Amino acid sequence: MDDSLRTSGIENIGKIYWGTHIAQLYDSVEDFFNISVPYIMSGLKSNELCLWIYSQNTSFDEIIKFLEVHMVDVDSYVKSGQLILIPYTEIYIEDDSFNEVRANRQWKHYVERALKEGYDGLRAVADTYWLEKSYYRTFERYENNIQKIIPEMNFIVLCLYDASKSDTLQIAEIIKNHSYVIIKSDDKYEIVKNVELLIKDRQLLQAHEYDRLKNEFMANVSHELRTPLNVILGTVQLLELKKTDVDIKEHKYIKILKQNCYRLVRLINNVIDITKIDADFYKIKKQNCDIVNFVEEITVSVAEYALSKEITVVFDADTKQKVINCDPDQIERIVLNLLSNAIKFTPAGGKISVLVHDKGEKIELIVKDNGIGIPKDKQKSIFKRFEQVDKSLSRHEGSGIGLSLVKALVEKHDGNIAVNSEENKGSEFIIGLPCNIQNSESEESWIVQSLLKRPEKIKIEFSDI
Ligand code: ADP
Repeated sequence: MDDSLRTSGIENIGKIYWGTHIAQLYDSVEDFFNISVPYIMSGLKSNELCLWIYSQNTSFDEIIKFLEVHMVDVDSYVKSGQLILIPYTEIYIEDDSFNEVRANRQWKHYVERALKEGYDGLRAVADTYWLEKSYYRTFERYENNIQKIIPEMNFIVLCLYDASKSDTLQIAEIIKNHSYVIIKSDDKYEIVKNVELLIKDRQLLQAHEYDRLKNEFMANVSHELRTPLNVILGTVQLLELKKTDVDIKEHKYIKILKQNCYRLVRLINNVIDITKIDADFYKIKKQNCDIVNFVEEITVSVAEYALSKEITVVFDADTKQKVINCDPDQIERIVLNLLSNAIKFTPAGGKISVLVHDKGEKIELIVKDNGIGIPKDKQKSIFKRFEQVDKSLSRHEGSGIGLSLVKALVEKHDGNIAVNSEENKGSEFIIGLPCNIQNSESEESWIVQSLLKRPEKIKIEFSDI
């Protein structure tokens, strides 16, 4: 489609593109011609084929007369075939009824004819005075369709609607399907850009604003929650240190308290991160790191815990070392998250394998269990926020944030995550990470810091098992 701007001839609009669908609500003959005459004149002067479809309220002669007030050579345009005046029955009405298919075919025919005859496109005036109540529904659908197909064509159309028709609401429904609406108020013509579109634009704006406020609010609240929680956690840890003073029962309560503090820390951390990722504020701190040894260390550090649940955890890799550029804190989070799920959903006696495969261009991390598995129809949705496979029974605690965060963190590394699972057989989470390395970097300084924090991290990540 040619996307050059055309002069509309309508003062309020100025220039328009091909594919513009305009509605005019007229309440008098003057009104009717005030807009359509300059509009058609612009088309005639701009090498466009001009088609005027008149209805019962005007006639061929009347239209020519109005045009001649403004133009001297109207006749020559008619003779050359650039200006065509036809009654509504040639487009819309056939055998006393509105024929939608025929109307569409006719428009297509005239657009094609315009281009074939060397015009830039077709400009039309379509008076809908013939429109009766019984046609409203089909006509509304028809106009909706026109609005959808017109952007593809070298076609501009001005549809005229009689404002004195009593069924304002239905007319309004029809008019919604145009790019512009021209109305007259206080003797001045006003142009309203598609009312529906305007409303949609505004709603979209509000939605963005709402999202922004929501993210800001979530971030603030989460930070506010963190402070008192740290105080509680610190106090609990102190109490624990003094465990000689407390009896066994109290010790159990302290353990429950601590466990739940960790759960809250995990939830808050996850909410903060998801909020940051949503707002595009999340920055990962990449550095070169030997992913094979790093993942092995993480695996080893949870093996003991898993064994206490009678689950064995094994690690295997097909390469000894692979240095890639990644954010170790986030990789640790990803792996711990998958491991905690694997432990959570694997019964006693089960086995978990963590595998690293070197695939050249990418590295594959696999966390595999022989636990309860995930039903096929649920596998897609587990990566969505707040999704849990078995909500109704709430078999396990959890917020349903874990995997959506894992996916987001993997994607921040330009990687991807997939799941293979069969009910009652087990699940396998496969992560693919690109193998890039950053040159000129001091190596492995991160490991010390990261390892020091790991027991705390495990407590946090495993808090809801
Ligand atoms: P949650 O915080 O609720 O565990 P996740 O996002 O981590 O949320 O997991 C979403 C859901 O996916 C879980 O509730 C569980 O139903 C399912 N799921 C995740 N990992 C496994 C697994 N290894 N085995 C079986 N089901 C799993």
